[in-house]
Amino acid sequence: PVVTRFAPSPTGFLHIGGGRTALFNWLYARKHGGTMLLRIEDTDRQRSTQEAIDAILDGLKWLGIDWDGDTVYQFARAARHREVAEQLLAAGKAYRCYATAEELATMRDKARAEGRAKLYDGTWRDRDPAEAPEGVKPTIRLKAPLTGETVIDDQVQGRVAWQNENLDDLVLLRGDGTPTYMLAVVVDDHDMGVTHVIRGDDHLINAARQKQIYDAMDWELPVMAHIPLIHGPDGSKLSKRHGALGVDAYRAMGYLPAALRNYLVRLGWSHGDQEIFTTQEMIEAFDLPAIGRSAARFDFAKLESLNGHYIRQSDDHCLVTQLEDLLKYIPQGPALAAKFDDSVRAKLAQAMPGLKERAKTLVELLDNAGFIFADRPLALDPKAQAVLTPETRHLIGRLRAALEDVSPWTAATTEAAMRAFADQAGLKLGAVAQPLRVALTGRTTSPGIFDVLAVLGRDECLSRLADQAG
Ligand code: GLU
Repeated sequence: PVVTRFAPSPTGFLHIGGGRTALFNWLYARKHGGTMLLRIEDTDRQRSTQEAIDAILDGLKWLGIDWDGDTVYQFARAARHREVAEQLLAAGKAYRCYATAEELATMRDKARAEGRAKLYDGTWRDRDPAEAPEGVKPTIRLKAPLTGETVIDDQVQGRVAWQNENLDDLVLLRGDGTPTYMLAVVVDDHDMGVTHVIRGDDHLINAARQKQIYDAMDWELPVMAHIPLIHGPDGSKLSKRHGALGVDAYRAMGYLPAALRNYLVRLGWSHGDQEIFTTQEMIEAFDLPAIGRSAARFDFAKLESLNGHYIRQSDDHCLVTQLEDLLKYIPQGPALAAKFDDSVRAKLAQAMPGLKERAKTLVELLDNAGFIFADRPLALDPKAQAVLTPETRHLIGRLRAALEDVSPWTAATTEAAMRAFADQAGLKLGAVAQPLRVALTGRTTSPGIFDVLAVLGRDECLSRLADQAG
């Protein structure tokens, strides 16, 4: 059975690239009826924080990525990592290295000056520990092969080979007895029964070092798949401005989790020309060899247009819930949250068919819906302000009088009354609709004006018109 894992270091939020890695692991596990495990790599005690752990778990949940079994915390497994290092030592596959920091620095300088890739000269590899100097706490190093090559048959990168003469005897256990990242990852992946390691290709070189540990332990190497990193639109390293943000930032920008997930799955992976996938389709179609070898480019415009698609597809009541959820993550949220009562929710749902046609993000949607919960007298934006002149204010007053007796108050009846009013006044409908729109929404664009009338209801409409009438 397939076992994948997502292994974030909790030193910051769930980065967008991490979200994609988690998604790929999740899809692969789900496709094969396997399991996806979560391992928090919290061995860097200085930089790992509980907030970061919470942010990662929260980000995964929001993206709809679930994992199986208990979350594994790597730091808690340090004793087991030490045990494996001792085992390798006992088997003669590792050795104690007593080189001091100064000696190592000298070796490094010398190696660099001579253009050698190997920075450690192997001085303690075969030396008698009896020669160990006093007071130096030794590291434990792997006795790595000196000749031949270390090969990874990667599902994405193909066959990648390293000359062993260029690979240092890597440190497994530091002088203070703490395991290195390299050792911890191998022991954990093995103990957790991981069959497939899917991660960013910045870890490809680590795969070679890790393979040497697998070999020394006589453990089977998991299938490896190193996916190209996400780059900016111009092919350079992804910058903040170009999308290098936490998943939480995308939530606060008003992206739907389903849209972001759909966007992420297409970032580096393709399935013919298909752009839009339901979760089930993603699970069925996903595969490792279809991941491209070149860096994926982040494209905000594409993400926006996908998001617009998902917004239009969403159920109106679901969107109201999503809007309300968004309020927790945006600066103006708390003030608006106080206004969300059942009446506002009902109005939002009623206006949603018109609102969702125009919005690319929930933030935009919320902004366009602002007229529903705006306080009177309405704040007018500058363009709306410009529409109001003594003449149009006068017109608003007359229109208000014409609407006063409309009953029942619906989109159809208000439309009929407005058309009759425009005819009588010898005006085009637009010449009446625009001042009306401004008075009711404070904007020059809005959902259809008759829908606005119906959503706001008679009393609110008449009051808003009275506010602007001259
Ligand atoms: N903890 C590592 C990281 O966040 C990932 C290690 C791995 O996937 O093997 O970059």
